[in-house]
Amino acid sequence: MIVMKFGGTSVESAAALERVTGIVKSRLHRKPVVVVSAMGKTTNRLLKIANLAVSGQREEALRELVALRDFHLRESGMERTVEEHFQELTELVKGLAVLGELTPRSIDAISSFGERLSSLIVTNFFNHHGLNAVHVDARKLIVTDRRHTQAVPLFDVTYAKLAAVIPPLAEHRVVVMGGFIGATEDGITTTLGRGGSDFTASIAGAGIGAEEIQIWTDVDGMLTADPTVCPDAHRVKVISFTEAAELAYFGAKVLHPATVLPAIDRNIPVLILNSRRPQVEGTRILSEGVASTNAVKSIACKSKVMVLNIRSTRMFMAHGFMRRIFEIFDRYETSVDMVATSEVSVSLTVDETGRLEGILGELREFSEVWVDENQAIICMVGENIRRTPGVAARIFNALGSINVRMVSQGASALNLGFVVAGEDLTAAVQALHREFFTELDPAVFDA
Ligand code: ASP
Repeated sequence: MIVMKFGGTSVESAAALERVTGIVKSRLHRKPVVVVSAMGKTTNRLLKIANLAVSGQREEALRELVALRDFHLRESGMERTVEEHFQELTELVKGLAVLGELTPRSIDAISSFGERLSSLIVTNFFNHHGLNAVHVDARKLIVTDRRHTQAVPLFDVTYAKLAAVIPPLAEHRVVVMGGFIGATEDGITTTLGRGGSDFTASIAGAGIGAEEIQIWTDVDGMLTADPTVCPDAHRVKVISFTEAAELAYFGAKVLHPATVLPAIDRNIPVLILNSRRPQVEGTRILSEGVASTNAVKSIACKSKVMVLNIRSTRMFMAHGFMRRIFEIFDRYETSVDMVATSEVSVSLTVDETGRLEGILGELREFSEVWVDENQAIICMVGENIRRTPGVAARIFNALGSINVRMVSQGASALNLGFVVAGEDLTAAVQALHREFFTELDPAVFDA
């Protein structure tokens, strides 16, 4: 058995569903279990409708609901199912408009409709296009706690249910289930958080002991650099989970690493594949590292960051200085990406934020602060970085006259990050890419 997860863009239209059908057909011999997201941007649209309803814009909410229903009707042709679900949704939305209040529980009730519908639509589509498909309601299998909108599965119960229900069905049929949704032990609908369908796929894979989990998206997989910055980036064929996690953090929006942990914990490989280019092998994420003759696997980068240089006005690192600094960022719910310290000062990076004024005001109560705006972080990622002498020298050599302002080697030692001025970002990434990816290990990269 394999799990095949298709994201919103992969199931956004009848044409997309046709592609998905073809992809599943070509893998029938592996006994696929299909997990689907809501079609296109349905989840966002449902959340918008819920918000309109509770903020006194009932008519607007109902209009949007009709548009969303029409979209589902048009792309699926499943009149009765779509009508029934939208009748229920309309009742819910009207109720919300009366209450004028949106609770996490009602958010889940509404946003679950995306996957409830898409999974039925995909099942039906498969059955009309030569596949023998069977729908299972994810809410009967994925049992969660009561943390609505961020529910966490009760793994033991969930795995037991998955293992009991899915394998016998998958023996002769393509099982289809919605991602993202689950239910509490007493049957109240919950959701696993935005982007939760990857999580469902990984949980399902772990529960049934799948051979492999395939995450079908609209990109070819992970690359050696952001292709908009470095057009000659190569696909990374295999990567370790920790490397992938490090990259995902830098906005390689391919997947959220926490969502694949259940699979990784059970040593099940996770593949990233492109539903528009199914012939491309994609990227295989493994729990263990893979040997490679290249020191670096990928160069991640992030622009529009600010560096805050903070110096204690008492000119020494008084006890509690760091704590005071980080408490301020915590209060302003602003995350700090990179930190470098010296005896008397701390430099740190944050994304450009509207909250800067407040943060600076509080920091200046006990320190001097300089802000460098329009900076960029570049992060070299690879398990081999820690094992290969001379990587730092090669980095600085390649950068030539580009000024490096802050350097940090992560605690994991599989990344080496630094900050350059925003206007140097492209030149820096391209120079590094030439240095580290001119010769490629064919086992790891697609040359
Ligand atoms: N439909 C949900 C979302 O948009 C879950 C998913 O697609 O992964 O967040």
